[in-house]
Amino acid sequence: MAQAENQLIESLARSDRKRVLALCEPVQLVLSEVLHEAGTSTRSVLFPVNGFVSLITHVDHGDGLEVGMVGREGMLGVQLTLGVTAAPMRAVVQGAGEAWRIGRVPFVRELARNPALRRLLNRYVYVLMLQLATGSACRSYHDLGSRLARWLLMSHDRAHRDHFHVTHEFMATMLGVRRVGVTVAAGGLQARGFIRYHRGELTVLDRPALEALACSCYEADRLAYQTHMAAKPARSPAAAAGRIHGTRHMHTAAPMTVRQRTDALGNQPQIELLHRS
Ligand SMILES: [Zn+2]
Repeated sequence: MAQAENQLIESLARSDRKRVLALCEPVQLVLSEVLHEAGTSTRSVLFPVNGFVSLITHVDHGDGLEVGMVGREGMLGVQLTLGVTAAPMRAVVQGAGEAWRIGRVPFVRELARNPALRRLLNRYVYVLMLQLATGSACRSYHDLGSRLARWLLMSHDRAHRDHFHVTHEFMATMLGVRRVGVTVAAGGLQARGFIRYHRGELTVLDRPALEALACSCYEADRLAYQTHMAAKPARSPAAAAGRIHGTRHMHTAAPMTVRQRTDALGNQPQIELLHRS
């Protein structure tokens, strides 16, 4: 597993975190893989580590529109916390990488006996509601250039690397615009030295410049996450000092290593978290 991990799991107190991690198995997220369609039954939940997923809604059999993005800051399948098994949107892997997976039955069982996990995920549902609302307004009020900058930052946050694969067609679908519009907007960013783009390979060259260009929705999302996900159980000062919260900081968060090991008590995979000094 990579040198990063999921912020939701990480924000739990140590004992709660161990219980959740004991249920996790590592999985690979494959680029463009459809994890589920809207309305299908949720068989498992995913906590991305360095892969990330687009949430897409369809209207009148069109290509679909991205309405949300889930990476290390979140989880896929949070509707189970509301007692709903049907997936609300299509989920497609936008960034290949790793994730933790828990089957629906053990996850729901853990929810029932782990109040800290329930409180955490309830707050996450609320943050998702805010992000959906922000995204809806964004599409009506903000120009394509600033929306593209926001989208690139959101992807950059979740990719944990400066370089990732994305086509103009995909960006256009995600932003709900024509391909030519994205080509012009991305060309403008490249001409200004903010990004480099060649045959589907995009490199972020100047993140501060993208932050300055992005619409206010990027900062609104970051603040929403920081405000509502910050109410956490008390931790030791040393542990707290090592944590950085908010999507803006995911890219620069202190690296962690995740070491898997087989627990002496059974065959269930266990994960040991180690701070890198
Ligand atoms: Zn916006």
